[in-house]
Amino acid sequence: MDRYAVAGHPISHSQSPFIHRLFAEQTGEVLRYGALDIPAADFINAVAHFRRTGGRGLNLTLPLKELARDYADVCSEQVQQAGAANTLLFNRDGRVYAENTDGLGLIRDLTVNLGVRLRGQRILLIGAGGAARGVLSPLLNEAPEQLVIANRTRARAEQIRAEFKHCERLTSMDFESLNQGRFQVVINATSASLQGQTLPIGEHTFASGACCYDMLYSHRPTAFLQQAALLGELRLSDGRGMLVEQAAESFMIWRGVRPRTQTVISELSKALASLKSPG
Ligand code: NAP
Repeated sequence: MDRYAVAGHPISHSQSPFIHRLFAEQTGEVLRYGALDIPAADFINAVAHFRRTGGRGLNLTLPLKELARDYADVCSEQVQQAGAANTLLFNRDGRVYAENTDGLGLIRDLTVNLGVRLRGQRILLIGAGGAARGVLSPLLNEAPEQLVIANRTRARAEQIRAEFKHCERLTSMDFESLNQGRFQVVINATSASLQGQTLPIGEHTFASGACCYDMLYSHRPTAFLQQAALLGELRLSDGRGMLVEQAAESFMIWRGVRPRTQTVISELSKALASLKSPG
């Protein structure tokens, strides 16, 4: 049976096996999907073993996304721009293909699932790590009026800005100045919420009724969403829909069929809600 897995370190928290099991049931695809705890130092050996034992594809999470890019024979344009891959396909011709589906996953969640308009809007993207890099080009392709990037370590945001110097719609701003701009869409691509830490946003960060999106997902509102909820009437969403949508894109690459995602997002939400009440 074809094997797939999500690999990272740590990995026990991952909802990807749950999501892909639902995809396989829904589409009738016969496969196994597991979770592999692989520290970066073991990556090459662990992947070789996985391929020898029926492995056809991997999803990658921290800290393996850059290693996956380097491992692949063929990297998509999206991987080259992001500098990181979240999907590997071990093709029957022996070649390894790398893709990054985070951007498509985010765009689909925002525009299709949540009905958020991106064209002509002012968008703030906070963060300059792998996740922010992965969604930059797909966001620019949606033709916003302006895309502004801000990061705690300013030099990383400036570096990205320099790489996109041909694109006038992409600008950067100081992290300390986040409480201005009145953006219609604000996306948190930092991992601050993971440590329960807040960001220097304020009521002037958001236009009235703005969409406020945290890529992190959790069984309870993330620190960022809790913070934003106090700042006005905003449309709040965490990254669970993005997680399912990027997984659906990976499934499509591996199996040639794109699963329906709405029911899977609902099932994931139920599973996350059940984590709320111990026992
Ligand atoms: P990463 O490469 O480690 O980057 C982390 C980013 O967070 C950097 O910009 C870092 O700023 C910033 N940061 C960390 N702690 C901070 C704090 N206390 N205050 C302000 N900024 C802080 O991580 P990543 O891969 O980009 O992932 C970022 C987030 O996106 C994670 O929460 C991850 O779970 C989420 N994500 C979700 C999905 C999904 O499908 N829903 C997919 C991918 C990623 P510095 O540069 O200053 O260190």
